[in-house]
Amino acid sequence: MQLVVMKFGGTSVGTTDRVMVVARRLIEAKERGDRVVAVVSAMGDVTDDLLALASGISDAPPEREMDMLLATGEQVTIALLAMAIHSLGHRAMSFTGAQAGIVSDASHTKARIQAVRADRVLEAVEGGAIAIVAGFQGLTPEGEITTLGRGGSDTTAVAVAAGLGADVCEIYTDVDGVYTADPRMVPAAVKLDIVSYEEMLEMAAAGARVLQLRAVEFARNHGVVLHVRSSFNDSPGTIVREADETMEHAIISGVTHDTSEAKVTIRDVPDRPGVAAAVFGRLADSNVNVDMIIQNVSEAGSTDISFTTPKEDLVRATRAVEEVVAELGARDWQVDETVAKVSLVGAGMKTHPGVAATMFRALADAGVNLSMISTSSIRISCVIEAAQVETAVRALHTTFGLDSDAVTAEISPAAGGNLN
Ligand code: ADP
Ligand code: ASP
Ligand code: MG
Repeated sequence: MQLVVMKFGGTSVGTTDRVMVVARRLIEAKERGDRVVAVVSAMGDVTDDLLALASGISDAPPEREMDMLLATGEQVTIALLAMAIHSLGHRAMSFTGAQAGIVSDASHTKARIQAVRADRVLEAVEGGAIAIVAGFQGLTPEGEITTLGRGGSDTTAVAVAAGLGADVCEIYTDVDGVYTADPRMVPAAVKLDIVSYEEMLEMAAAGARVLQLRAVEFARNHGVVLHVRSSFNDSPGTIVREADETMEHAIISGVTHDTSEAKVTIRDVPDRPGVAAAVFGRLADSNVNVDMIIQNVSEAGSTDISFTTPKEDLVRATRAVEEVVAELGARDWQVDETVAKVSLVGAGMKTHPGVAATMFRALADAGVNLSMISTSSIRISCVIEAAQVETAVRALHTTFGLDSDAVTAEISPAAGGNLN
């Protein structure tokens, strides 16, 4: 008897009709003889609507209260789904994050799961019920409700799967799997059958929101194999697991984009030891995530520092920057919210020089200007103007031979690739 964890995202439970569809799918799994644990998100745009309600009250609400508010979204879904299963003549029992034993740290709105004490969930499935766990929420050891950051239900699912030693962890969503680019932006994108944890980590970090970054980290750390698939059909999706020699090795696995970040520049910062520590120390103290960082060449004893940060952290970031600018005697600071990040991800980059040059050439030919560049061993990211993001992603997808009509995933010299 297998133990399966099945996670359904917001669109998949967006209406009561969809909740009934999910209920039937869970019952089917149960009737196959599996022990079934469902993890669900808030319905449709509920989390966005709750955020909008909060911003109608304050531009920087206390984060503890934000979590109180946001955690209600998932609680609605678990109750409705349990009712749906009951209405179809089967047993189900819903659990909030707290009841499901999801223990997190106290960093409100982006808490990390520290432990899963899922005894009650296990008891429910052992007793023959379908257990339904609210995604995206946890409880600190002090008893405070937390949320796990946008997309956090994915992480709940993986953590529950790891905690229960599940045989299968399926992430049901509104696309058929992980694609070579967001299929909503690039119609020629291709579904990947298998992706390594390493590549999926980079894709998630670079904006492919189909899986939350922390979910992939958790899966890798605990060896949980993920199956990302559609809740709208039965097609096999994408397996995310440890790389091995049986995997195909495309040089580039995907092109990702992210328009959720803003760029902050602090101008004329004195160029002396401790300045970067002061800036980024203050941002960290303010619970602000920082992604890319650039420090310009020093001129006349001062320099500019730019960084990107999620727009949702911007109010806190600008408060922190304001203070630090005054303390350091920097000239001023500015925020640019009209930026986007495009990234190329592929394990083959490690062994194929020339990928960066091909990428920059493709973007230049498409008339796209680069304002920041960062790399890891298997990713190259560029910050560009938000208005050009679609042009940039499509140009890269074509240049690197990823379009669905392309015969090979390798870069062909004809496409401008110069790899060796
Ligand atoms: P859920 O509510 O099921 O968690 P999300 O909206 O969080 O769904 O994630 C699924 C969405 O991720 C898709 O609808 C798609 O537009 C987007 N996406 C971005 N990049 C990719 C990619 N490389 N592959 C698949 N989907 C992607
Ligand atoms: N409801 C949360 C969000 O919209 C968590 C999730 O869907 O994974 O981000
Ligand atoms: Mg999601």
